Amino acid sequence: MAKMHEVTALLEQLAPLRYQESYDNAGLQTGDANAEVKGVLVTLDCTEAVLDEALENGCNLVVAHHPVIFKGLKQLTGNSYVERTIIKAIQHNIAIYASHTNLDNVLHGVNTKIADKLGLQQQRILVTKPSTLMQLVTFVPVENTEEVLAALHKAGAGNIGEYSCCSFSITGTGRFTPSAQADPTIGRANQPEQVQENRLELLFPAYLQGKIMAALKQAHPYEEVAHYLYNLENQNQEVGIGVIGELDEEFTEGKFLAYLKDKMGLQGLRYTSIGSKKVKRVAVCGGAGSFLVKDAIRQGVDALVTGDVKYHEFFDAEGRLMIADIGHYESEVYTKEIFYDTISKTFPNFAVLISEVNTNPVRYTF
Ligand SMILES: [Zn+2]
Repeated sequence: MAKMHEVTALLEQLAPLRYQESYDNAGLQTGDANAEVKGVLVTLDCTEAVLDEALENGCNLVVAHHPVIFKGLKQLTGNSYVERTIIKAIQHNIAIYASHTNLDNVLHGVNTKIADKLGLQQQRILVTKPSTLMQLVTFVPVENTEEVLAALHKAGAGNIGEYSCCSFSITGTGRFTPSAQADPTIGRANQPEQVQENRLELLFPAYLQGKIMAALKQAHPYEEVAHYLYNLENQNQEVGIGVIGELDEEFTEGKFLAYLKDKMGLQGLRYTSIGSKKVKRVAVCGGAGSFLVKDAIRQGVDALVTGDVKYHEFFDAEGRLMIADIGHYESEVYTKEIFYDTISKTFPNFAVLISEVNTNPVRYTF
């Protein structure tokens, strides 16, 4: 049987918690990380109705996009749906886990799902998150190079886009003199030493620094491991907000609106008109993405598909692009499929169910 922490570790491979925004509260909200998983229910929101559904289906882990504990709790008396949900989860030993802005901020997360539904090609992150990449330079005796590289790769260093196990090396001469107190692998006390070493260079995501340095020290044969760490200004093409891509063909405004309704299962939407201009390049951002209008315009986007757009924010379109507000729930509801696909592929030994509860508090009438 799998433990809770094994399932959440898998979700964090896709969306590391370190990529959540500072105001967020993603991660395990209730439950014991060491408990065994009997079944998983995936949902956009964790509500009391969703917990009932979990209980009916024998699920003791609910994976949600929105953290039910978000702003903090000062009492648990059952006065709000948040308090009642938490009380119920604890009473029934149900673990609640949320993957929220960390899943918004990675490629293959919330926004890739929307882009896939819309059939966008050449997808990439709209605005990359700065300061998420680092470089390690280290020096290893030639004969130990492969084992050190293997350890660094295992810890997550050297992945660039679709390429894994990336590194650069050049051979040179390392010089050192051990002191009388040193315990050198090569050389003797107070004797200058020269060793043929490889200088290794690897990229890695900054959040893995601790793990990678531990792996380096473990695998490297030397008592003192010479290394440099650099913070990089490089854009991390896998971390950031919004996804941009191209439709297969140019759509008129009317055709694009119909397409959007069809592909995202919408009853209706709010949008700004672009008149006779065509739609080909589209940016998407699940939830509230109006803060991306200027970046979208700068990158030649014809339509920004998002939710939660306020009246005055629609003016920012200035006729240069369509802002399409398809609704917060509607933009993110397919996030459930990400959780379902990720967990069920790796853990075939327990049931993974997609919640059938419509948690959208907003209803429409026409
Ligand atoms: Zn949301």
